[in-house]
Amino acid sequence: MKSLTLNESISFNGVGLHTGVKTNITLRPSHIGSGIFFNRTDKSVIIPATWHNVISTKFSTNIASNETEVKTVEHLLSALSGLHINNCEILIDNIEVPILDGSSKVFVESILKKGLKQQDSEQNILEIVKPVKFSCDYGFAELSPNSSKDKGLNINLESSFDGKYEDQDIKISNLNGNYIESISNARTFGFFHEIEYLKSQNLIKGGSLDNAIVIKDKKPLNKDGLRYENELMRHKVLDVVGDLYLSGYPIVGTYKGFKTGHFITVNLLKELFSSNDNYKIHKIN
Ligand SMILES: [Zn+2]
Repeated sequence: MKSLTLNESISFNGVGLHTGVKTNITLRPSHIGSGIFFNRTDKSVIIPATWHNVISTKFSTNIASNETEVKTVEHLLSALSGLHINNCEILIDNIEVPILDGSSKVFVESILKKGLKQQDSEQNILEIVKPVKFSCDYGFAELSPNSSKDKGLNINLESSFDGKYEDQDIKISNLNGNYIESISNARTFGFFHEIEYLKSQNLIKGGSLDNAIVIKDKKPLNKDGLRYENELMRHKVLDVVGDLYLSGYPIVGTYKGFKTGHFITVNLLKELFSSNDNYKIHKIN
């Protein structure tokens, strides 16, 4: 697979889910080998989108460099990963990526409208060769080599929303093939009874029914309902795809998890990179 960047720059603006601040971002084509990186234009600081730079994972994935932060990077990274874009500069003039409609749909559709540009170099991929696992008191995630019939990144998630919403599980096979149709439209979500707590933590200042699903008594409060019966789990897949892109590579392997979140996936990446024996980086056709 060739390296990919954008055909031309694309701009977005909106509010951040947690800070409520208004932010402008511009995705700009970038040269071979540059990777995905943020450029905080108001502070003149470059922040590469890698797991080393993660500083917190509480309700969003937040990265920083030189004490300059970009919050809630996961949905934009998910869109770039789903579209196989591996070189892109993200100009951002404030602290948080706009939440837009709560999914990665707006990013994906706008990028596809302007088109992708193939670059004269093959992409490196990261192939899992040894299983790695991260567990904590409520859940776990593991990455293992694909079985011989599986290609690309496969994701198999289970969760239990503890009486808050019906239990759901989802398996997305060969994700590279169905990200745009199956995953990119799934919106972020929260539970009504958690809203006061999140507000007390100074979070979700920009949250509304226009950019998040809110579940109360096992039903969405959003007047148009859900986009998919299992939209919540699909959004969890969207988040996993975004967080895994902090590896810096498209991953070939199988991700399995229970009650996953940003904390679990980022720690799984730390585990993955703790030994060179766990993975192989190479080019594929
Ligand atoms: Zn999310």
